[in-house]
Amino acid sequence: MQSSSATRKICTLSIILVAAVLAGNCAYQAPTVVEKTPEVVAAPPELPALRRIWPTTLSNHAFRVMDYVIAPWFRFKDAAVSITFDDGTLDQYQLAYPELEKRNLKATFFLISDYLDDGYWQDFRIRRRLFSWSQARELARAGHEIGSHSKTHAARLLGSEPFVEEEIRDSRARIEAEIRARRCVSFSWPFWANDDQSRDAARKYYIAARAGGASAKRFPQTNGGMPSRNPADIYQINSMGILSARSMAGWQQLGREIVADGAWAVINLHGIDDGYIARDALGWEALPLDKYRALLDYVRKPELWVTPLGAAARYIYEREAALLSLVSRADGALVLNLTDSLDNALFDQALTVRLRLGPGWRLVEVRQADEIMWSYTDDDGFVVFDAFPDAGAIVISRLDLKGRS
Ligand SMILES: [Zn+2]
Repeated sequence: MQSSSATRKICTLSIILVAAVLAGNCAYQAPTVVEKTPEVVAAPPELPALRRIWPTTLSNHAFRVMDYVIAPWFRFKDAAVSITFDDGTLDQYQLAYPELEKRNLKATFFLISDYLDDGYWQDFRIRRRLFSWSQARELARAGHEIGSHSKTHAARLLGSEPFVEEEIRDSRARIEAEIRARRCVSFSWPFWANDDQSRDAARKYYIAARAGGASAKRFPQTNGGMPSRNPADIYQINSMGILSARSMAGWQQLGREIVADGAWAVINLHGIDDGYIARDALGWEALPLDKYRALLDYVRKPELWVTPLGAAARYIYEREAALLSLVSRADGALVLNLTDSLDNALFDQALTVRLRLGPGWRLVEVRQADEIMWSYTDDDGFVVFDAFPDAGAIVISRLDLKGRS
């Protein structure tokens, strides 16, 4: 699959990313698609154009053009999938989480931060049991993302009234106070409701926010559709509600379209029901456990990158902002830098890079900060490797020159 990627057409997307971290505590500008050619249905996902390293600072003998591309999605997976849960109901901890772990899939859990101490949330007339902060910490330790679904889930977060920003800001503060291992970077709109003003508030505190009710060309169902590789507004990421595709045929159709578009499938789940769990532990519109299992089994395809929403969002920002540069070149080694202008405390997702090495570089080792990075060389003279932006020099060494095999 990877070797065929060289022959893929040059991408026709023209994208400008304004990823500058604005002044102040924590403000982000979302990637903005400014121009896009009409999508061709069922065409294979195209790769962005090769970028060129111009080694202007090097001596003459090093003036050899090196082309590279940053993978649209991690490890050149065709498409990304983020599984997200809203509300933090107890069924998610008791049923959804173990099924994820069995498959080594990592998801995002959006919590209502005011209610974990009490252990329940009064969802209009229904009292729903929630999992605890210590259970949330267990999820985070296992690699799942904990995001915010507001402080109280009390109202639609619209307009500029002070409570709107409080719900957005204070829930992040509480989650970060309780779960210290990882920053809270993602928000999920209660009732999927948001507008220009509330999205501006979210921009100050998060790198991304998930919606669900927005219209979508490919999936016009009630609960929304599918964001592209570059969401039009990363503070209004559309998601597919469980109601839109409950059958296996529905999931498979979604999967084909996601892969064809190179898109980002964001799945929005609430409750999971095995028929035995306490009724008050169930979240809204609970999905039967067997259907949930079938969904998880389906997304474990090698061509899909299943990753928490915050990780996919980090990847989008970083891939658009990152630049690879050549520091030095010797017979048996290249030294490169991968840099971006983003806040490294938040943006620590590895990117996958494909770099033209030319013939002879068949057996290589890639290191960054003395760690051996995931890598391989393909038949077209490229090396494909993972690297973290702003995390130190990347050294690509020819192992055959060292007398190793
Ligand atoms: Zn909710």
